[in-house]
Amino acid sequence: MTHAYHYCPDCASPLRLLSQDEDGGPKERLRCPACGWTHWNNPVPVLAAIVEMTDRGGQVLLARNAAWQGRMFALITGFMEAGESPRDGILREVAEETGLVAENPALVGVYDFQRMNQVIIAYHVQARGEIVLSPELAEYRLFRPEEIKCWRAGTGYAIADWLSARGIEPKWMEPAA
Ligand SMILES: [Zn+2]
Repeated sequence: MTHAYHYCPDCASPLRLLSQDEDGGPKERLRCPACGWTHWNNPVPVLAAIVEMTDRGGQVLLARNAAWQGRMFALITGFMEAGESPRDGILREVAEETGLVAENPALVGVYDFQRMNQVIIAYHVQARGEIVLSPELAEYRLFRPEEIKCWRAGTGYAIADWLSARGIEPKWMEPAA
C-alpha cells in the first residue's frame, strides 16, 4: 500500500514536481519549494521467506494473503523493523505470520519488484511446528518443491532460483495467472 505525499513533512508546504540538478543531471521529483525537502521515493526493502517444513517431509509452505483476489499462493513476506537485521527480520515475520519456529535463514537472492517500488530480499528458512496463520493470511498450502509453479514477478523469481539451485527445473504459471 503506497500513500502519496502532498505536503512537506518538514514545513507542511504543498509539494510540487520540481526539476533540480542531481549527481546524474537534472531530475524532476516531488520537492518542497519552501525548504527544499525532496521526496526521493526510494524502493522499500521487503523480506520474503521460502519456508521449508522439516517436520512435513520438506514441503514448502505458501500462503494466500487475505487482501488478494484470486487463488494466488506466495511466499511469506513482511517489512523490516528498525533495529533488526534482515535475517532476524525474516525469522520474526515467519513466526508472526505462521506461528512457526524458523531457523537457518540462507539468502536466496535480491530481486526488484518495481510495480510496488520494493526490493525483495529472499531467504530460505527451515521451520517446524503448528501452523497458526495471522489474520493477514487467508489460507496456506504445502507443496512438494517439484510441484511449485513459479510466477513471473518479485518473489516468483526467488523461488525459481531456489528450485534451480536444488536441481529442480522451475515450472512457470501461464502469463495470464
Ligand atoms: Zn518544506
